[in-house]
Amino acid sequence: MENRVPEDRPACGRPPTDARLCPACGKRGREVSGTTLDRQLAPNVRVKFSDAAGFCAEPACPVVYFWGDERVLTGETLRAVAQKDPGEDVNVCYCFDFKRADLRRDLSARGATDIPARIEREIAAGRCDCERRNPQGSCCLGRLAEEIRAIAAELAASKK
Ligand SMILES: [Zn+2]
Repeated sequence: MENRVPEDRPACGRPPTDARLCPACGKRGREVSGTTLDRQLAPNVRVKFSDAAGFCAEPACPVVYFWGDERVLTGETLRAVAQKDPGEDVNVCYCFDFKRADLRRDLSARGATDIPARIEREIAAGRCDCERRNPQGSCCLGRLAEEIRAIAAELAASKK
């Protein structure tokens, strides 16, 4: 099967320390698992990595995943990456399908949103699957707070 991930892995399976610095922007990326990569990349792109990669969250940087010399750029992942794509139809929560436009609609209508509370209820019910569904491989709630602050600030500025 040509799309299988190669069996031979980097010597110890862990990156050298600086392998987690993004090769394009130099910022530290967080490590995502093979489980995340399996879901976020098409098979022909997935083969670039073994069982982990770094995730670069820097908005201005075109690199999404990296490992050694390998990199995957914005537009090469299966889903738009919230950190890299300012589009309104981009997911800010991937598990329960909330988009940036959903936050903006709530905030412009009533100056608040219950989306984080709704997500927390789903998480409490054990229904989140961030490692697979979220390109960053982890919970969206920290980022969501930033998204809400940014949109609220934009709306406030536009009213002046
Ligand atoms: Zn980067």
